[in-house]
Amino acid sequence: MSPSDFPARLLQTLGPDTVLTAADDIAPWLADWRGLYKGQAQAVVRPRSTEEVAACLALCQQAGVAVVPRGGNTGLCGGATPDASPANVVLSLDRMNAIRSIDTIANTMVAEAGCILGNLRRAAQEAGRLLPLSLAAEDSSQIGGNVATNAGGVNVVRYGMARELVLGLEAVLPTGEVFHGLRTLRKDNTGYDLKQLLIGSEGTLGVITAVALRLFPRTDVRSVVLAAVESPMQALRLFELLFQKCGARLQAFEFFSGDCVDLVLKHAEGVQEPFAQRYPAYVLVELADTADEAALNALLESVIGQALEEGLCLDAAVSASLAQLQALWKLREEISEAQRADGPHLKHDVSLPIERIPDFMASAEARVRALYPDIRPYIFGHFGDGNLHYNLSRPAGADRDWAAAHGAAITDAVLDEVNRYGGSISAEHGIGQLKRDHFLHSKNPLELRLMREIKAVLDPAGIMNPGKLL
Ligand SMILES: Cc1cc2nc3c(=O)[nH]c(=O)nc-3n(C[C@H](O)[C@H](O)[C@H](O)COP(=O)(O)OP(=O)(O)OC[C@H]3O[C@@H](n4cnc5c(N)ncnc54)[C@H](O)[C@@H]3O)c2cc1C
Repeated sequence: MSPSDFPARLLQTLGPDTVLTAADDIAPWLADWRGLYKGQAQAVVRPRSTEEVAACLALCQQAGVAVVPRGGNTGLCGGATPDASPANVVLSLDRMNAIRSIDTIANTMVAEAGCILGNLRRAAQEAGRLLPLSLAAEDSSQIGGNVATNAGGVNVVRYGMARELVLGLEAVLPTGEVFHGLRTLRKDNTGYDLKQLLIGSEGTLGVITAVALRLFPRTDVRSVVLAAVESPMQALRLFELLFQKCGARLQAFEFFSGDCVDLVLKHAEGVQEPFAQRYPAYVLVELADTADEAALNALLESVIGQALEEGLCLDAAVSASLAQLQALWKLREEISEAQRADGPHLKHDVSLPIERIPDFMASAEARVRALYPDIRPYIFGHFGDGNLHYNLSRPAGADRDWAAAHGAAITDAVLDEVNRYGGSISAEHGIGQLKRDHFLHSKNPLELRLMREIKAVLDPAGIMNPGKLL
């Protein structure tokens, strides 16, 4: 099939309801969530079944047409945005949104890739179970996108990343062949675990069409404390104590600087100053359990009491009601939106060996301040997982395009420090197009060669999401 025959064959095979080609119809599918990237495409395909995905990919491979899988478009690295070639096909999973099964004995859920994560969490809740994957974009992002990016979120400290929650998956390879790996077994040591290649592959190896996920008991009993700390080192020592005393009940350990609180109070509605005075930084800790609220509260109060006595935090506010718990979480959850309202900024989603976070933070700040003394760091993140969102805003009074003009040198400095401290330049958001150059420089040659060879085996024509990751 020649490229010129392709649009007609696609329409003929899948029908005009599934294939969009008019410029106005496809326009909303061409830019990323942040508006950083914009591309082109000849068509947007919205299949309703695995068979339709397979038919689409087989045609694309025959015609040598690039395919860009698209979930909820909340990825922050431009991974779901096509490049500048007008020949691209964007393949959206949004219509594949059925929950195929929930099993409360095996504690599994099988869901199609286009299911919105928040809907899956609510469905699990209604069935008396917990799907622990949780992130601020959960009411827009899709489970297929979550798995394709190996998403993290706020409960990783207890339940792990998306990879640890996936028991099996179904995917369509670029040849149109269906990979039937939708098993729900806990134990299956039969050779290479091929599904792991697709998890975190950012649409570069195939299209995930359904996933089998682990479910857990509902943890309806929750207790939250906001602890004020003087430094990242104090936060680290507090984490050690909480991990040791609370074990698996430790559900979240989030860090944010005092400057982040300033920003949230300025831009978000319905948030309150948490203490009578401003502290250098804060840690938000959530404990959760299946039952016995009084015991959980008593545990948290006793550990925080010990932390105050031993000088592991400066002050603490424990939630006494659901409203207070939500108000404390809001301070953390609103940081991204508040920084967005503040204007364009540089995002660095990095991870470090957790014990090296304090030294990394001091060293990275010295590096960026040597370049721009008045830069405004807003550092927050999933500290308990060693994951920081090392975000930097322009100096007060600088133009809004400051970050675009000066960002490259700053990002080089930050990611160089990450590598020096043995960290990762992408903790949970992936590589996409945003971090491709740094990724290619940060991996060793053997790792890159193996990744390229795996890509060549699964996607010999190179049609899957070109320009992303590799
Ligand atoms: C406010 C906000 C907060 C966030 N917080 C977090 C957080 O705490 N933790 C975290 O990990 N992320 C976070 N993110 C990033 C984002 O939500 C995740 O990366 C999410 O997993 C992306 O899912 P999506 O469905 O939106 O994927 P998309 O953005 O549509 O796609 C992401 C990548 O996956 C590929 N892809 C999508 N669907 C499929 C599929 N079915 N098969 C194969 N490839 C596919 C795309 O081609 C692309 O490369 C946040 C984003 C925002 C906007």
